[in-house]
Amino acid sequence: MIPSVLPTYNRAPMTFVKGEGSWLIEADGRRFLDLGAGIAVNALGHANPALVAALTDQAGKLWHTSNLYQIPQQQALADKLVAATFADTVFFTNSGTEACELAVKMVRKHFHDAGQTDRTDIIAFEGSFHGRSAAGIAAAGSEKMTKGFGPLLPGFKHVAWADHEGLRAAIDENTAAILIEPVQGEGGIRPLPDQCLKGLRDLCDEHGMLLILDEVQCGVGRTGKLFAHEWAGIEPDIMMVAKGIGGGFPLGAVLATENAASAMVAGTHGSTYGGNPLACAVGCAVMDIVAEPAFLADVNRKAGLFRQKLEGLVASHPSVFEGVRGAGLMLGLQCKALNADVVSAGYDALVATVPAADNVVRLLPPLNITDDEIAEAVTRLEAAATQLERAAESART
Ligand SMILES: *Cc1c(COP(=O)(O)O)cnc(C)c1O
Repeated sequence: MIPSVLPTYNRAPMTFVKGEGSWLIEADGRRFLDLGAGIAVNALGHANPALVAALTDQAGKLWHTSNLYQIPQQQALADKLVAATFADTVFFTNSGTEACELAVKMVRKHFHDAGQTDRTDIIAFEGSFHGRSAAGIAAAGSEKMTKGFGPLLPGFKHVAWADHEGLRAAIDENTAAILIEPVQGEGGIRPLPDQCLKGLRDLCDEHGMLLILDEVQCGVGRTGKLFAHEWAGIEPDIMMVAKGIGGGFPLGAVLATENAASAMVAGTHGSTYGGNPLACAVGCAVMDIVAEPAFLADVNRKAGLFRQKLEGLVASHPSVFEGVRGAGLMLGLQCKALNADVVSAGYDALVATVPAADNVVRLLPPLNITDDEIAEAVTRLEAAATQLERAAESART
């Protein structure tokens, strides 16, 4: 008999009942150090006092009105995002997937209204992840995500990661945009080198194409800049944001330049819940903390500390780990052991991590994780590695 919850997830056998900062407390009382942060969502940890205050204060006043009316919290968050980024305008969604849907619609409408109606194609990259909607899976294009769900939304071409020749060859008169994650998340924490992002910007300018960045996972302070593309010194035309921006409350956004967005006039797009007062009150509280230069500087300092300790971990457990990669506090342990086994040995050592493609274990801690917690995280990862080494040894003898 089918379970009452549609069984589309492979869940680990833990039930967390409370969160405190970087810690998750299991129903049986065990305390797990949370290096997953709800997949880069709980950017300021669990039950952050500033976010709890913003949410509960708004909860006592007004939850939802729909976008039939003015929403001051939405206006305030849009103003903060516009002030802090390349963007001139923002549309709010409830998730990253919905941000992808709008990014695709925005590109098509931009060229349609410019009289270039055949210009509908978007080039995306192998190993990417943009959500699970029709546009999202067509954009990612992988067999794993699309099999059985055809016919797929047309208008996407796929190029291998780092295949410069393939990319140039894929561009033709119908190409409207390039869509890419500055750091691939699900794809295995693969950062795009700064010069490649610059190259993509140049290529888009050369061909009159729009550059869409998916910063759903790598944005909102995760890499030590407010948004990851800032490291390359370039600006996109359209950017998808979600995960960290709500600090745990469902919230997403599409940020865009006036040029890219100008065809999206009244009636062209909408959302019942998008930009609701609760989500935006929390989003404002997140931005007030994360966008502070001192906060981002501390993310960079802690990222350096964490990475250095992880290099040591890799060096002392060469049969389990192969290397460390990533940017800021978006780190990946490339594994020699099966990444799923590393994640599960981590559970035994009371540390929560997230698997990704390419046999990587993702470390996406709250951005306000403390130095002591970073040291404790590495101690627990050591314990997990030792457990795997012992298991491998006893299997040999
Ligand atoms: C998680 C993610 C999405 C999808 O976001 P949802 O909120 O799950 O819909 C899209 N793009 C990237 C890069 C992501 O990591």
